[in-house]
This record gives sequence, C-alpha cells and structure tokens, in this order.
Amino acid sequence: MLDKKVKELINDQINKEFYSAYLYLDFANYYYDQGLDGFAHWYDVQAQEERDHAMLMRTYLQNNGELVTFEAVAKPDKTYSSLDDPLKFSLEHEQYVTGLINKIYKAASEVDDYRTMQCFDWFVKEQGEEEKNADDLIRKFKLFGSDPKGLYALNQELLGRVYAAPSLVL
Ligand code: MG
Repeated sequence: MLDKKVKELINDQINKEFYSAYLYLDFANYYYDQGLDGFAHWYDVQAQEERDHAMLMRTYLQNNGELVTFEAVAKPDKTYSSLDDPLKFSLEHEQYVTGLINKIYKAASEVDDYRTMQCFDWFVKEQGEEEKNADDLIRKFKLFGSDPKGLYALNQELLGRVYAAPSLVL
C-alpha cells in the first residue's frame, strides 16, 4: 500500500493525463479544420502518449494494491485565433504538468517512498522531453510558419511522426 497523499496525487494525475490527451485531440481537431493534417497528426500521436501516461500510472497503482477511481474529464476550453496558438498552449500545459509530476515526486520523497520515486524518475525525464518538443515546435513555426512553402514543409515533417510505445515497463 502507498501513502494516502501519494496515492491520491497519482490518482488525480491519471485524470489530468486523460485531460492532456483530450486537450491535444482538441488541438488536432483545430488543425484538421485548418487543413494542416501534419500538425493534426502530430497532436493525435501526442494524445496517444498522454493516454499511455494515464495507463502507466493506473497500472502502477494497481500493482501496489490500490483502487483506481475516475472522475469526469474536463472540457478543453481553449480558443484558437492563430495557427501557432496550440503550440504555445502546449508548452504552457507541459510546464504545468511538470509541476504536477514534481509534486508527486516530492510527496513520495517526504515519506521515503523510493518505489514511487523510482517509477516517477521516468515521468520527470519524460516531462523534460515534452517541454523540449513543445519548445522546438514553437521555434520551428517562428522560423518557417509565416512562409507558405515553409509551412507546407513543416506540415509534411510533422505528418511523419511515428507513435512509439512508452519505454517505461511496470
Ligand atoms: Mg503526460
């Protein structure tokens, strides 16, 4: 059994990872509507990764004898007025999630829960990659997004993103 606070934070985080998936699917909806299928595909893949994060945390709790409980997933409430809005929202959102993951890690460390800390080492590292990916997209859009040929090439590049299952095995 896990510490009550650690368990609750991870259980809450499952909901937030599903929300992340929902938010990224909303970004994808916007890009499909704008005719940018590569950007949309990139966020479809991102949503799949977020679902994986939720499922990994669910399995982690279950492997530790905990009952997982689900709450309603919030409605994505973003509105988009320019093509790079989702890119900016994405970085803000990942920075927020990093804070949440760090909170779980801190709670685990405060009760000497080395098992949770070891599991969440992966998520801490993953957040570093998520923030970098989001930042890279913003930078690429700044460089190439205002030119139609550049935007087309960037869209084609993002269309090539291949989904990879998470490297964390529980
Ligand atoms: Mg995530």
